[in-house]
Amino acid sequence: MEKKALDTRIVTAGRDKKWTQKLVNTPVSRASTIVFDSVADMKAATKNRMNKALFYGRRGTNTHFAFQEAMVELEGGVGCALYPCGTAAISNAILSFVKSGDHILMVDGAYEPTRNFCDTILANMGVETTYYDPMIGEGIRELIRPNTSVLFLESPCSITMEVQDVPTLARIAHEQDIVVMLDNTWASPINFQPFEHGVDISVQAATKYIVGHSDVMLGTATANERCWDRLREYSYLMGQCASPDDVYLATRGLRTLGVRMRQHEENALKVAKWLAAREEVDHVRHPALPSCEGHEFFKRDFKGSNGLFSLVLNRGNTEALTAMLDGMKHFGMGYSWGGFESLILANENINSLRTATQKEFAGPMLRLHIGLEDTDDLIRDLELGFERFNEVLKNT
Ligand SMILES: *Cc1c(COP(=O)(O)O)cnc(C)c1O
Repeated sequence: MEKKALDTRIVTAGRDKKWTQKLVNTPVSRASTIVFDSVADMKAATKNRMNKALFYGRRGTNTHFAFQEAMVELEGGVGCALYPCGTAAISNAILSFVKSGDHILMVDGAYEPTRNFCDTILANMGVETTYYDPMIGEGIRELIRPNTSVLFLESPCSITMEVQDVPTLARIAHEQDIVVMLDNTWASPINFQPFEHGVDISVQAATKYIVGHSDVMLGTATANERCWDRLREYSYLMGQCASPDDVYLATRGLRTLGVRMRQHEENALKVAKWLAAREEVDHVRHPALPSCEGHEFFKRDFKGSNGLFSLVLNRGNTEALTAMLDGMKHFGMGYSWGGFESLILANENINSLRTATQKEFAGPMLRLHIGLEDTDDLIRDLELGFERFNEVLKNT
C-alpha cells in the first residue's frame, strides 16, 4: 500500500466508494432487517456476516463499515468494534477476555467508571483486580499471577496524567500470554500508535476528540490479529452496537481531527506554561511538560498532545475553589472533554480515586480542557478566577 501522510489519511480513510456511493460523506444507513433476493443470497450473507457485509442491523451497515475501516487505517490493528459509549467499549473488551477465577491488572489512575466496573461487576463474577502504580515499569512482573488474563493500561492516566511505559509493560505481559489493553482516548487514534507499542486491544471514548463537538456518545475498540475474532464475536453476543447517526457524526468529526488536535495542543501549551508560572500553582501535569510523571515516555512514544491537562495548586479550600469556578466566563463546568469548548473542574481529594498509590500534593487539583477559543480570553478568565480565589483565602 502507498504510504500516505497522516493528514491525507485522515481525509481519505474509510471513503471507499463501496461505502460512500460517490458522496463525499458516507450516507446514514439505518437498518434492522436486510432483505435478501433469494435463499442462496441469504445463505451467502450468513456465511459472510463477519466481513463487513450487510446481514442484520446489529452487525452494521455501510455507515459503520466506513468508520470501522477509517479507525483501523488511523489507529492500526485489523478490526474495530463499536459500542454506544467509551465505558461500554472498556467493559466489553475486558469481559471478552476474562472468566470466573481470573485475575486482572488495572492501572491505579484509570478512569473512575473503569475502576468501579472492576470493583463491582468483575468482583461479582469472581474476577479479582489488582491495581498497580502507573509508573511501575519492570515491577509489573511481581504482580503477575498464573491466572492473570488481562493487563489494562490508561496512558496518560485520568486526572493525574502519568504517562506509562507501554512497550515495557506490554513486553512483560506477553511473556505470560496476557492480553494487553489500553485506554487510548487521550491520544485519539492519531497521537499514539498502540499496536506499534505492543498493545493488543485499544479502546477509545470516541465521545471525546473523534466526535469532537460534545454531542454524541460512542466507543470503539480496535484489536490486532490475535484478539480481533474473539472481541468481535463476544461484543456481538453481548449485543453491542451503535446508532448509524452517531457513527456518521463520528466519521465527520474524524475529518477535522488533525487540525483540531494541533490547535488544542497549541492553545493548551500556551495556557499550561502561563499557569506553571503562576504563584498559586505548585506544578502543571501536562504530558508534554517535564513536570509530568512519565514525560520521558511521552517524548519517546507520542506524536503530540491535546487540550487536556491538570495542575496542582499550592493552597486552597472548597470556598476559594468555588469562588474561582463559579465566576468563570469561558470555562464551562462539566464532565467529559474533547469538544471545541473549554472546561474546568476541581478535584480536592485525588487519593479517594486510588488504592495502590497515594499522592502527597501540596493542594487541590484542577483539570482543564483547553478548547478552540482565543487563548488571551482564556488566560484572562483564569487570571480573574485566581483573583476571586485569593480574595476568599485572604478572608479566611
Ligand atoms: C470519557 C472517558 C471514557 C468513557 O467514555 P464515555 O463515552 O463517556 O463512556 C473512558 N476513558 C477515558 C479516558 C475517558 O476520558
